[in-house]
Amino acid sequence: MPPKTLIDPFGRTVDYIRVSVTDRCDFRCVYCMAEHMTFLPKAELLSLEELEQVCRNFMALGTRKIRLTGGEPLVRRNIMHLIRNLGSEVKAGNLEELTITTNGSQLHKMADELVDAGVKRLNISIDTLDPDRFREITRWGDLDNVLEGLEAAKRAGLAIKLNAVALKGVNEFDLGNMVAWAGDQGFDMTIIEVMPMGDIGNENRVDQYLPLSQVRAELSKRFTLTDNNFQTPGPARYVTVEETGRRLGFITPLTHNFCESCNRVRVTCTGQLYMCLGQDDNADLAKALRNGGEDGLRDAIIEAIGRKPKGHDFVISRRAPNAAVARHMNVTGG
Ligand code: SAM
Ligand code: SF4
Repeated sequence: MPPKTLIDPFGRTVDYIRVSVTDRCDFRCVYCMAEHMTFLPKAELLSLEELEQVCRNFMALGTRKIRLTGGEPLVRRNIMHLIRNLGSEVKAGNLEELTITTNGSQLHKMADELVDAGVKRLNISIDTLDPDRFREITRWGDLDNVLEGLEAAKRAGLAIKLNAVALKGVNEFDLGNMVAWAGDQGFDMTIIEVMPMGDIGNENRVDQYLPLSQVRAELSKRFTLTDNNFQTPGPARYVTVEETGRRLGFITPLTHNFCESCNRVRVTCTGQLYMCLGQDDNADLAKALRNGGEDGLRDAIIEAIGRKPKGHDFVISRRAPNAAVARHMNVTGG
């Protein structure tokens, strides 16, 4: 009998999967991708049906939360088909939560459909409220369009958390205004340290890297930040911004290791299961499913969780300025 719960060698229950449904994106954020990217051939992608099979087999092994990410998940063709099918499991009580991380570019037209399908929360990535800087960071993004999407998501009743990556000398001094604005809008917010994933062309990680201890010190000049014990399945540590009453999270993979409470694994759009965002070891679920059917898939998942490592080894320094792992964030999903 397969187990009902996945428990890794360090005693951590793994009940949360992040699924990158596509590596493609309509933006080219400077910390995530090079401007001219070669994407995976479409023939290598798992079909939406196969992605659903992977999700359902994880659910049979105890997965309670699924986050869809990418690339930009909402640009994958017919993605609503998968979202509706997984959302029906939320409605039936078989899945606690289905969430999506998105750049917001499609929300102006998709927000209502998402709610209808059973999605209740979104993480929306937005690094600055300055339109020119937004363009500089995303290269191809349009801030007005994203703000329109945010408004549509709010109107549709979705709970929204903003994600902002802190970039030295770029949006460093925009973050205070974002915290204030998020408070006005009723959004929580998380600030993320840039992680060394994938070759990003001419950009250099040392130039981008801004420790969040510095960000917090700067924000503390303007806001009263009180530590709170709020815990999510994610890796953020939270404070309350007393002036707005909203939560502000800090994700600090480089200055504070969050691995000890890790409850998640990641599946790519080609069916590779990564047991850790910061390590290369993976299991080929596509092969397991295609050769061994659902039994083979489940065995491969169980075997891989038995190899989940204790943690990652991210470092950004002058001696190791670039990628700790070769794959880009859009492949594994954030
Ligand atoms: N396209 C969607 C979006 O931007 O929200 C989902 C995928 S994106 C890879 C997920 C998250 O990872 C985003 O919040 C993004 O800012 C973050 N991210 C991408 N590359 C990163 C990096 N090298 N270091 C830290 N965060 C990164
Ligand atoms: Fe696209 Fe998200 Fe990566 Fe930006 S962070 S390039 S929006 S996948």
